[in-house]
Amino acid sequence: MANRRAVVVGAGIGGLTAAIALHRSGWHVTVRERAPAPPLTGAGIGLAPNALRALDAIGVDAARAAGSAVPETMGVRRSDGRWLTRVATADMAARYGVAPIAVPRPAFTAALAAALPAGAVRYGSAVTAVHDPEGSPIVRTAAGEDLAADLVVAADGIRSPLRHAHFPAHPGLHYIGETAWRALVDAPDLPIAAMSETWGRGQRFGVTPLSDGRFYLYATALVPPGTRSADPRAELRDLFGSWHDPIPALLDRIDRLDPADVLQNDLYDLAAPLPALHHGRIAWLGDAAHAMAPNLGQGGCQAIEDAVVLAGLLPPNGAAPVPAALAAYTAARRDRTDAVRVRARRVGRLGALRNPLAVAARDLAVRATPDRLALRGMDDLFNGFRPPR
Ligand SMILES: Cc1cc2nc3c(=O)[nH]c(=O)nc-3n(C[C@H](O)[C@H](O)[C@H](O)COP(=O)(O)OP(=O)(O)OC[C@H]3O[C@@H](n4cnc5c(N)ncnc54)[C@H](O)[C@@H]3O)c2cc1C
Repeated sequence: MANRRAVVVGAGIGGLTAAIALHRSGWHVTVRERAPAPPLTGAGIGLAPNALRALDAIGVDAARAAGSAVPETMGVRRSDGRWLTRVATADMAARYGVAPIAVPRPAFTAALAAALPAGAVRYGSAVTAVHDPEGSPIVRTAAGEDLAADLVVAADGIRSPLRHAHFPAHPGLHYIGETAWRALVDAPDLPIAAMSETWGRGQRFGVTPLSDGRFYLYATALVPPGTRSADPRAELRDLFGSWHDPIPALLDRIDRLDPADVLQNDLYDLAAPLPALHHGRIAWLGDAAHAMAPNLGQGGCQAIEDAVVLAGLLPPNGAAPVPAALAAYTAARRDRTDAVRVRARRVGRLGALRNPLAVAARDLAVRATPDRLALRGMDDLFNGFRPPR
C-alpha cells in the first residue's frame, strides 16, 4: 500500500516537528510555508525538559545541534538585582532528567528542516484553503495547486487562517496588554552564568546566555496594542537603562544592532479553547491550536509535544483511521494545552503588576517561597508529558 500523504501548513517549530515525526513513522510529507525563505535573524527560544524529552522520543537532536547552552542557574530578580527565586540547573536536571536549554531560533528551525528529506519544505507556498469534501481533503495553494491529502496539519501560527475558516464561531485572540521586544546580541566578553528574568513594575527584562557568545534578550511593557516608537533601542534604554547589571551593558550591545533586528510583538493568547483540535482530517497544533502568553516559555514546547503525540497516534499503514486518531489527539492534548494557556496568562498578570503595594507583596511572596517548592511547582509542566510509545 502507498504511504499515506500528509500536508503540513506552516514551517514553524510545530509544523517542522510534526513533519519529522510523521515522516519518521512512514508518512509521505510535504510542508508548505508562506514565507519566501527560512528565517535568518530572530530571537532565541527556551526549550524545557518536556520538549527535549518529546524531541528525544522521535530521535531528533535539533535542539542540541542548534548550539544549546545550559546556564548554571536560572531565576527571577528584582530591578535592583536582588534574586527573588533561583534554582541550579543541575537540580533541574536531577529532577526532570534533563536541564532546560536555550537556542537561537533560526538555527533551531534550520536544524529541524535539515532532518527532513530535501524538497519536503516548500517556502513561498502559501495555503489559501483546505476543502474537506467527504473525508478526502484538498489543500489549495496561492499558486493554484490542489494537493490531495489523507491528513492536513494546520501549524499556521497564532493568526491561523485555517482556524478562522473552520471554527468561525471561535472568539479568536485576546490581547494580554503587553508588548515584547526580542533581540540577539554579541557579548562574548560578558561572563554571565545565569538565565534570569527581572520583574519591575509592569515591565520585565530577560537575559539568556547562548553557547556562541551571544545573548538572547527580551523585554516587555504594558502598552495599548500597536504602540510603536521611532527607535526601539532608545525606548529599551529609557525603560530599562537604570536596572541592575548586566542590563545596561547588554543595552549597549542592543544599540549596535540595526533597529530592524529588534523584534517587537504585541502579545496575544487564544481568548477561549477551541472546541476540538481537529475537524474532519485536519489537526491544529502549536499556536494555531492554543496560542498562549510567553510567560512560561511553553508555546513552542507545547507545539513540540502536540507534534509527537499526533504522529504517535497516526501509524502510516491505515491501522488507525485518521478521523478516529484525530479525535484521540484532541482527547490527549486539549486539556493539557489549555491548562498551560490559562496558567501562562495567570503568571503574566503577576509579572505585569504595576501598583507599588501589589508589587511589594508579590516580591515578598515569591522570595518567601522556598526554591525547592518553586521548582516542584513546575512538575506538571516538565513531567506532565510522557511521549507515546
Ligand atoms: C516574546 C516571546 C517569547 C517566547 N518564548 C518562548 C520560549 O522561550 N519557549 C517556548 O517554547 N515558546 C516561546 N514562545 C512561543 C513560541 O514562539 C510559539 O509558541 C511557537 O513559535 C509556535 O510555533 P508554531 O509552529 O505553532 O507557529 P509559528 O512559529 O508561528 O509558525 C507558523 C508558520 O505558519 C506559516 N503560515 C501562516 N499561514 C500560512 C499559510 N496560509 N500558508 C503557509 N504557511 C503559513 C507562518 O509563516 C509561520 O512560519 C515565545 C513567544 C513570544 C512572542
